Amino acid sequence: MATPSVIAECAAATALRSVLHRVRQAAERSGRTAEAVRVVAVGKTKPASLVRQLYDAGHRYFGENYAQELVDKAPQLPLDINWHFIGHLQSNKVKSLLAAVPNLHMVEGVDSVKIANYLDRAVASLGRKPLKVLVQVNTSGEESKSGVEPSRCLELASHVKSSCPNLSFSGLMTIGMPDYTSTPENFKTMTNCRVDVCNALGIPEEQCELSMGMSGDFEQAIEMGSTNVRIGSTIFGPREYPKKNQSH
Ligand SMILES: *Cc1c(COP(=O)(O)O)cnc(C)c1O
Repeated sequence: MATPSVIAECAAATALRSVLHRVRQAAERSGRTAEAVRVVAVGKTKPASLVRQLYDAGHRYFGENYAQELVDKAPQLPLDINWHFIGHLQSNKVKSLLAAVPNLHMVEGVDSVKIANYLDRAVASLGRKPLKVLVQVNTSGEESKSGVEPSRCLELASHVKSSCPNLSFSGLMTIGMPDYTSTPENFKTMTNCRVDVCNALGIPEEQCELSMGMSGDFEQAIEMGSTNVRIGSTIFGPREYPKKNQSH
């Protein structure tokens, strides 16, 4: 008889295939190919064994949004995984994260000059190659969301590009509404920010990624130009928080 964890593992690989199919179709609707959109599978609260299952199915891009969870999980998994740290990163976690995850591919969620400077110094002190970062933009206007105001994304992008030699500015990232849905306006704001940043910093638009789109809205985000979607629950199933946090 199949145990629940075996069932979950098969379900995740099947769900991933279905997501990749939907991504391809959405990319084609926007006149692009599936290769133009990276799918980051977000395994937060899920065991490394489940991530491993998707790795075995051929997937290589995975995301986490709790630094400690990534520090614990990454060493249990193959080194050719490209890890994305997504969301707000605390400055006191930077060193341990970079030290524990040599295959950290990108930090999606630089939301202040302070964290940019911390990352820059930590990359230098560990002698790592420049780290790709996305600037997080708050497109929903909610206080609770981290990210810079759209009117300030150029300022932060410009700081990263000109004052952080160990970081590689790679684009912009946003989280939608509190219920994790977004509106076309959120995505339009991102496209506008990209135009401003690319014009001001002299970067071709193809070199400025847009990370937008999660389980509830990734197809629409892709149709509006997303190059990187972060998908958790649609692939891995509902998150497993300890009981006391279940409303989260
Ligand atoms: C959890 C998380 C996701 C994935 O959310 P789903 O709605 O489960 O796909 C994406 N981005 C960030 C920043 C997250 O924290």
